[in-house]
Amino acid sequence: MAIWVEVDLCDGCRRCTRACPYDAMEIREGKAYIGERCTSCGACMEVCRSKAIVTDAQPRIIPDFSNYTGAWVFAEQRRGQLQRVSVELLGKAQELAKVLNHKVSAVLIGHEVSDLAKTLIQFGADTVYLVEHETLKEYRTEAYAHVFKELVTEHKPNILLMGATHIGRDLAPRVSRCVGSGLTADCTELSIHPEEGILLQTRPAFGGNVMATIANRFSRPQMATVRPGVMEVIPTPEKEGSVITHVTQLTEEQIGTRILEIVKEPKTHGNLTEAKIIVAGGRGVNDAAGFELLGSLAAALGAELAGTRVAFEEGWIPASRQVGQTGVTVRPDLYIACGISGAIQHRAGMMDSKFIVAINKDPYAPIFKVADWGIVGDLFDVVPELTKQLQAACQIMCD
Ligand SMILES: Cc1cc2nc3c(=O)[nH]c(=O)nc-3n(C[C@H](O)[C@H](O)[C@H](O)COP(=O)(O)OP(=O)(O)OC[C@H]3O[C@@H](n4cnc5c(N)ncnc54)[C@H](O)[C@@H]3O)c2cc1C
Repeated sequence: MAIWVEVDLCDGCRRCTRACPYDAMEIREGKAYIGERCTSCGACMEVCRSKAIVTDAQPRIIPDFSNYTGAWVFAEQRRGQLQRVSVELLGKAQELAKVLNHKVSAVLIGHEVSDLAKTLIQFGADTVYLVEHETLKEYRTEAYAHVFKELVTEHKPNILLMGATHIGRDLAPRVSRCVGSGLTADCTELSIHPEEGILLQTRPAFGGNVMATIANRFSRPQMATVRPGVMEVIPTPEKEGSVITHVTQLTEEQIGTRILEIVKEPKTHGNLTEAKIIVAGGRGVNDAAGFELLGSLAAALGAELAGTRVAFEEGWIPASRQVGQTGVTVRPDLYIACGISGAIQHRAGMMDSKFIVAINKDPYAPIFKVADWGIVGDLFDVVPELTKQLQAACQIMCD
């Protein structure tokens, strides 16, 4: 594809030099000149009033997707346990489908998991596509992607959402490749464009410093992953839905991997995404011993312990306890941030908490901008005092 300037038409107005995001345009002898940095993005063409910048590229035609309908959610289950993120996504799917006047469907894959279909309907699914097979008992990328390809080819969903869990993050890119669609990972907001009716997928970009909204005009389904804890659950207890059983053509021979053994990590903590109270620490906590102080406060409150990326990188908390853009998203009733500056990447994972208390010795720390209550002080004074007071209050209540 080539792009060039018809010099006779160019009036040297400089609109193109200002519009070029790559600094590739300049004015030479009163005429626009395209330099080596040009990526043919077309920004200059859009602003050129005299139509002096031209290309031989054919305009991309948006295919007719009117036969793609419905908002689908991957109903992720592990050993028959439905993952909460799936019902959260059904909540969002209900909102999106309502705008489009589409139906909501859940895709339930596994072995002897049909009991979960009722729950999916009670959380918003009009239809559950149930695919049961022995080969699908444990999650395997190729097997699940194969099933999705069959379903998407047959039923043509408009939107397909998956949780940004270990499984979802593995499966979604494979499915998007198999069905020839795009994928936006780790979305924090999803909505429908009011005029075009396409899915607007918002996620942090450039290290979390900007929020980018991504739309997919040229392929279907429009695919996105969303982290657990980001979307709200919308129960629909009275709903009546249907279950469509899909018989997969998949055979064991088509799958290149075998599961020999499943080794589970011993679980030392509760589930962070479902915690009602979280005590979190950052660099200000100083070391593992400092985290023991936070542990006492957490124990007094019946809270879960978490931290910033610094706390994880220093080895004070496991990776699974890191809150933020590259960690877990949480929305507890109470989030107590101790020695945390409140960088945007950390806030991205906790700012939907109902009530935020920040303890920081720097009165200008950004965490105070999102805190409901701020305690300016040294956490090594404040946290033990808080713990003592809470323990005393608890003692009074118990007496
Ligand atoms: C792409 C990308 C992704 C990222 N993802 C994440 C993420 O998921 N989660 C995350 O947390 N970060 C993430 N980060 C890192 C983030 O930018 C910050 O560097 C990090 O959150 C800072 O952690 P902190 O608040 O513990 O440390 P600092 O920013 O160093 O803050 C320490 C705070 O402790 C206070 N303090 C010090 N001593 C005391 C004391 N005795 N008492 C009270 N207060 C005290 C200080 O005043 C300061 O405000 C990411 C960064 C990038 C570029």
